[in-house]
Amino acid sequence: MSVIHNEMATKCKLFVDGKWVESSATEFGDIANPSTGDIIGKVPMGGYKDVDLAVQAAAKAFPAWRDTPVVERARVMFKFKNLLDEHYEEIAGIVTREHGKTLAEAKASVQRGIEVVEFACGIPSLLFGDSLANIATNVDCETIRHPLGVCAGIAPFNFPAMVPLWMYPLALTCGNTFVLKPSEKVPLSSMFIAELLKKAGLPDGVFNIVHGGKDCVNAILEHKLIRAVSFVGSTAIAKYVYEKGTANNKRVQAAGGAKNHIIIMPDASMEQTVQALQASAFGCAGERCMAGSLAIPVGDAAKELMPRLIEASAAMKVGPTDSGSSPDMGPVISSEHLAKVRSFIEKGEKEGAELALDGREIAAAKTSKGFFLGPTIFDHAKKDMSIVKDEIFGPVLSVVRVNDIEEAIALGDNCEFGNGAVIYTNSGRAAREFKHRFNAGMIGINVGVPASMAWYSFTGWNHSFYGDLHIQGKEGILFYTQQKTTMTRWFSDAPVAKNFQDPVWKSKK
Ligand code: NAD
Repeated sequence: MSVIHNEMATKCKLFVDGKWVESSATEFGDIANPSTGDIIGKVPMGGYKDVDLAVQAAAKAFPAWRDTPVVERARVMFKFKNLLDEHYEEIAGIVTREHGKTLAEAKASVQRGIEVVEFACGIPSLLFGDSLANIATNVDCETIRHPLGVCAGIAPFNFPAMVPLWMYPLALTCGNTFVLKPSEKVPLSSMFIAELLKKAGLPDGVFNIVHGGKDCVNAILEHKLIRAVSFVGSTAIAKYVYEKGTANNKRVQAAGGAKNHIIIMPDASMEQTVQALQASAFGCAGERCMAGSLAIPVGDAAKELMPRLIEASAAMKVGPTDSGSSPDMGPVISSEHLAKVRSFIEKGEKEGAELALDGREIAAAKTSKGFFLGPTIFDHAKKDMSIVKDEIFGPVLSVVRVNDIEEAIALGDNCEFGNGAVIYTNSGRAAREFKHRFNAGMIGINVGVPASMAWYSFTGWNHSFYGDLHIQGKEGILFYTQQKTTMTRWFSDAPVAKNFQDPVWKSKK
């Protein structure tokens, strides 16, 4: 694992053909520890040259990996899963250091990533084809799933280990080779994990890493040898990647941003609801595509909910996540992002929402060089305000009070996004109505963050997803493979070989 510890102090390298190599980039970005503001590494802002190097290695490795029996590909994943378990704490530590999540959040996210590897271990059964005998007279038909070739993954900053793990375990076990571009803000976890893949026995060139931002992404979208691109990030870039990638004849699955609604019915169990709402809105400092960032108490629900929620949120401890203490919430990713989230708070005030809890006032936000902001709550927000419509991606919860469930469902119909939505209630009828009619792809009923686990696809709707086949689960397998259908006929009057002695055949004649 030497490369990671060295890279902490120096420049990140590319992982190409099983080796760490220098980038040809001339510009470098900073990797910061958000808890302290310290620079902990430099990342090359690579372009076509770096991408081409990695893609050529992946293309060279493809034929042998494609022809490796699927059971052997699965065995590499089993070994990889064991290594991930073994190094679980270390990976979570790197995630905390480069991203700022609390250690508990980092561990939970790594666990979610490991679950994708567990799913991928079952690849022989997942790749089964279909067959039908005698679909026409003496004609049998079968389908087989083939890998595509070189696939690429482009990841966001908010889950440094987990989101890349949504992609490559499936792509690789399906028989593809892979080029990963982690977020330039948090490349270290993926670099550590690359060494585990090598240690698990993955042949050189099958998995590669490049670094950079826009130029690197454009090089991926334009490279002729890349067949498919998985993207996770903001909606604007997801749309761009989808349009440019498909225009260049690539398969693209592109998951975008979100504004997830949490509806609280008056009959909800309030204690659990407050805890869940707090965890959903402020967990991972609100930097989750499944964060509940818009609470919608129905009827009388607000009366009990709001005082309890404000009190509990104000009591949350916010501070550095890598110093041995265990705060409830860590920093946001960067000083630029902090400024952006703060500007949303100013907008909310100008728009006339009631600032019920102001996270700018916490001690860490005033004294630390880290990028801190405390839990912030706007009450009495209205449906056309930017704090209700836009993704803020920080610890800011907007609350829109409504009279009935119809009004709550209508708010969802107006939403540009459609990742997740949650209802807290003890009424089966309200829950059923919500589940069937709400305009989002992942629904929680008394579950605060209904992010699909590895065995299911991550089914965002509207502008939270561009493409046809979602990430993870069965759709993930379909995305990384193409079908071949074969029809076979053997003629009944075909000449028989001279010395053929098959008794069955004889009796049939
Ligand atoms: P981002 O869109 O800024 O960056 C994502 C990736 O795109 C990065 O690798 C980055 O280098 C690249 N990129 C950035 N600007 C680019 C440009 N102009 N042209 C080409 N490529 C560019 O997203 P982020 O800030 O890293 O991550 C946060 C976003 O990701 C949020 O919107 C969040 O909701 C979303 N997200 C979505 C899901 C999901 O499943 N829907 C999951 C996690 C995160």
